[in-house]
Amino acid sequence: MTIWAATACGAKGKGMLPLPTRRAALDHLRRFVPRAGASYASGRNTDPGPGKPSAVSRLSPVVRYRLVTEQDVVAEVLGRHSFSAAGKFIQEVCWRTYWKGWVELRPAVWQRFLAERDAAKREADVMAAEAGRTGIDCFDAWARELVETGYLHNHARMWFASIWIFTLRLPWTLGADFFLRHLIDADPASNTLSWRWVAGLQTAGKTYLARADNIARYTEGRFAPRGLAEEAAALTEPPVGPAGKLEALATPDMAAPSLLLVHHEDLNAESLFAADAPVRGVLAACDPALLWGDAARRFAGEAMADAATRAETHFGCGSTLADRLDAETLLSAARAVGARQVLTPCAPVGPVADALAGLEPVLAAEGIALRPVRRRWDAGLWPHARRGFFAFDAEIEGHLRAEGML
Ligand SMILES: Cc1cc2nc3c(=O)[nH]c(=O)nc-3n(C[C@H](O)[C@H](O)[C@H](O)COP(=O)(O)OP(=O)(O)OC[C@H]3O[C@@H](n4cnc5c(N)ncnc54)[C@H](O)[C@@H]3O)c2cc1C
Repeated sequence: MTIWAATACGAKGKGMLPLPTRRAALDHLRRFVPRAGASYASGRNTDPGPGKPSAVSRLSPVVRYRLVTEQDVVAEVLGRHSFSAAGKFIQEVCWRTYWKGWVELRPAVWQRFLAERDAAKREADVMAAEAGRTGIDCFDAWARELVETGYLHNHARMWFASIWIFTLRLPWTLGADFFLRHLIDADPASNTLSWRWVAGLQTAGKTYLARADNIARYTEGRFAPRGLAEEAAALTEPPVGPAGKLEALATPDMAAPSLLLVHHEDLNAESLFAADAPVRGVLAACDPALLWGDAARRFAGEAMADAATRAETHFGCGSTLADRLDAETLLSAARAVGARQVLTPCAPVGPVADALAGLEPVLAAEGIALRPVRRRWDAGLWPHARRGFFAFDAEIEGHLRAEGML
């Protein structure tokens, strides 16, 4: 079995982003929490530029891989602020939950994106845009910032996507692909649906137009772009179809000798499985082929090593780090501990879920059950992502009350 070789986090903007351990993520979160109320609400739209103090949390890399969960973030914030004082920040955290749920109920949207992206790659040339050689000052700076740091402020992501689609008239799927290949927090749901939203596909007919005065104002005068599109006609597509149901998961046998599989979609196994779960060994598999870019691979690889160490302590057993999530790796790890069951955090729509779907019958043929377990946060909130965000938003407070968080 190949052992993952951890490397130093390569993002040049790492000074402002949390390092890839849970300890560092929690420290970063706790330093941010005092600012999660009014200062976040009033300052969150301003992008002062790379390396500059900003009103936003820059927590997305650690939330993406669940070094800290949305529940951890909201609980920490509610320890300091009331629900209404931190309402804007909690709402933004829940945008992530909403996008994840939305795709979970309509997985075909992700498949459609992949197919359209691959078709567009054969037709369009986006080299100048990706290299930051368009002559549009802000756009070129953000293209370079993205590649160099693996992060962009939310407002910059919106402006960038809008200019890509409506000024440069490039296929949105290739812009989304550019983000996937460079963002440390690259995420199938948040990225795809945010690009769709800018393009007018997500909320049919409603687009986002980047305006020069808005950019100048919220970048504190750093940019004065010229020649931006003055209108943004929504793109169109065949109907996506109605929301389906969240897939029902079989209940794990909590007496069966088990291997715990940790994958990069959820690096916090100890908050999902009790210490007395029948875990005989841990396989911590971070397969670079299931991510898109090197910055994300480095970050997730280091975070995986941290997750394996925490799981060893929590379950009191050994762990193996692997850089493959394939049948041979999984079966040999399961056999080594006599497992009849593989417990794993439920992976949302994306490459890890696809890999697990392919591995399930291979394990079953050996008499080993694959048992993904969904977090209560996801099980409680994802089913409400059936329509627009505002219907979803109305469910958040009730969920937090039901979970004893309010
Ligand atoms: C075109 C485009 C592409 C995007 N691609 C991604 C992506 O691949 N991965 C990703 O995690 N986010 C993506 N986002 C959402 C958002 O830009 C980032 O999550 C946010 O900028 C992260 O910075 P932060 O942690 O400082 O956010 P904060 O403002 O401090 O928010 C706290 C947390 O809430 C969540 N969050 C905040 N805003 C959003 C949002 N609009 N949508 C979803 N979650 C949100 C993130 O987990 C974030 O860490 C995208 C947005 C756009 C417009």
